Parts: sequence; C-alpha cells; structure tokens
Amino acid sequence: MRYDLHLHSHFSDGMLAPSALVQRARAAGVDVMALTDHDCTDGVAEAAAAAQAIGMRLVPGVEVSVTWQQMTIHVVGLGVRADDTVLSQGLERLVQQRRERARAIAQKLDKRKIHDAYDGAARLAGGVIIGRTHFARFLVREGYVTDAGQAFKQYLVRGGAAYVPVQWATLDEAVGWIRAAGGQAVIAHPARYKLTSGKLRKLLAEFRDCGGAAIEVVGCGQAAQTTSHLAGLANEFGLAASVGSDFHGPDQPWIEPGRLAPLPDGCVPVWQGWELQASSYKPEA
Ligand code: AMP
Ligand code: MN
Ligand code: MN
Ligand code: MN
Repeated sequence: MRYDLHLHSHFSDGMLAPSALVQRARAAGVDVMALTDHDCTDGVAEAAAAAQAIGMRLVPGVEVSVTWQQMTIHVVGLGVRADDTVLSQGLERLVQQRRERARAIAQKLDKRKIHDAYDGAARLAGGVIIGRTHFARFLVREGYVTDAGQAFKQYLVRGGAAYVPVQWATLDEAVGWIRAAGGQAVIAHPARYKLTSGKLRKLLAEFRDCGGAAIEVVGCGQAAQTTSHLAGLANEFGLAASVGSDFHGPDQPWIEPGRLAPLPDGCVPVWQGWELQASSYKPEA
C-alpha cells in the first residue's frame, strides 16, 4: 500500500479541487491519501466522494496552525470527524484570525503602494481560507515580484515588509481539538522549522505529553540523512511515523503526490491499527 498523508486542495492554499487532487494521487499510485487543508475540513466531503468512486481510500484530515514559543508549527490531524463541534469551533477561530491577518497584510502592502491586495488575494483564495500563498500569487500576477519565493522573502515572512504575526492555537489546543474529533495528531515536516536540536526535542516531548501521536518522518525530496534522523527521534519519543508529500499544486513540479521514500525500518507507522486493510476497501488492480 502506498500512503500519502499530507496534501492540500483549493479549499486552502492548494491549486486543485479535491476531486482533481484525488485523481492525481491515484494516477501517481497512491492507495491511501489524507486531505489536510490548512485550518479547514471543507474539502473532505468532495475528496471522499471522489476517492470512493475510484476505489481509493481517503483519510479525512486537517493541518492546524499552531504557535509554539513564538514560532509557527503545523500539526496535522489524521482520521478526524470533520463535523466534530470542538474541532470546527477551534478551526473557526483560526479562520477568523486569518481574515484579520489578511486585512492587516493588505494595509501594509497599501502603504507600499500595492493596492487592492485584500480583494486580489481573496479572489485567488476563493473559499474560506485566505493565506499568505494567496498574497504571494497576487504579487506575482501583478508583477511586483517574479515568483512566490520572492514574494515570501520580500513581503510575507518575518522581517518582510508586510509580515503580520499571529497567535495561532497552542500546541495543547490543536492536539486536543484533533483528539476530540477522533483523530491522531502529527507534527508536520519537523525538519522545516529550523529548530535547534534541543528545541526540537523540547517540542516533541511537549507534543507527546499533550497526546500527540506521530511525526512526519518522510517528506517529498527530503535528504535520506534527515529521514533517518527523524526516524530515530520518533522512536526515542515513543511517537509513530507518518509520510506526506505536502503537495500544493503542479506549480511546484518537484513535489508530487506519493513521491515518497519508504518508512525506515524500526518505525511504527501511524497507520498501524487502521482498519483500512481489513475493510471492504480494495485497491484497483
Ligand atoms: P499561512 O498558513 O497562510 O501563513 O501560509 C503558510 C503557507 O505558505 C505554507 O503552508 C506554504 O504553502 C506556503 N509557504 C511558506 N513559505 C513559503 C515560501 N518561502 N515559498 C513558497 N511558499 C511558502
Ligand atoms: Mn500551504
Ligand atoms: Mn505545513
Ligand atoms: Mn501542508
């Protein structure tokens, strides 16, 4: 079975509709995929229907924005009940914070003579989730920067001209919401936060203590050395291991659904105990 447990649709900052995303993952040989949009589960129903139609297994998920020690950390929830009240209310708060942040980003851009950025980004966003990626796409489309990377660097990351900090959910809240919705909490892309080894260990210890289940050990294009380091950390902290491409769309051709190395030996897969294999689900021949 080929798993990819971290993908985005246009319900957050991905490019594809959930059904198109499911088909792309299937074409890439993925058997089990999770839809994990930022702070939003609205795409899950469409993805589940599309998956069922082609005999693929869809794991309902979400990627929750967390602030931990003044830094943004992403916590993926796998196997959540998308309609759970606790989770929905928590995510609603983050969506509201995203709207407020978007207004503030647009104001900062306006002072730099970049006008109408809110409407431009909101139109690109389409749905409920407005993110920095939508501002980046707006800045590229209007010719203020040459690519999204430059948009982030110049305007959208800490130190950038339109950076607006947000206090997202606490680690404890995010894990609590995910567990309340029957899901497993997973630290997304642990190697991408540029944490010192000591800080990363502190994060993993706190995460485990508040009920976290796993960390992403395998990511798309990740160095083999990083993968084995993360596998060691997962085992050391008694956490299971997940795998995810973090695919957002065809505009980043170096990331594809399912383009993932196998889990290193000795890891406990986050899907151990899932009833997928025992269910009536049969992958297409
Ligand atoms: P947000 O959750 O709205 O603050 O935006 C975070 C998202 O922006 C991430 O999930 C990525 O999709 C995207 N992102 C972050 N940094 C960069 C970057 N340097 N270049 C392109 N996309 C980025
Ligand atoms: Mn994203
Ligand atoms: Mn992320
Ligand atoms: Mn992601």
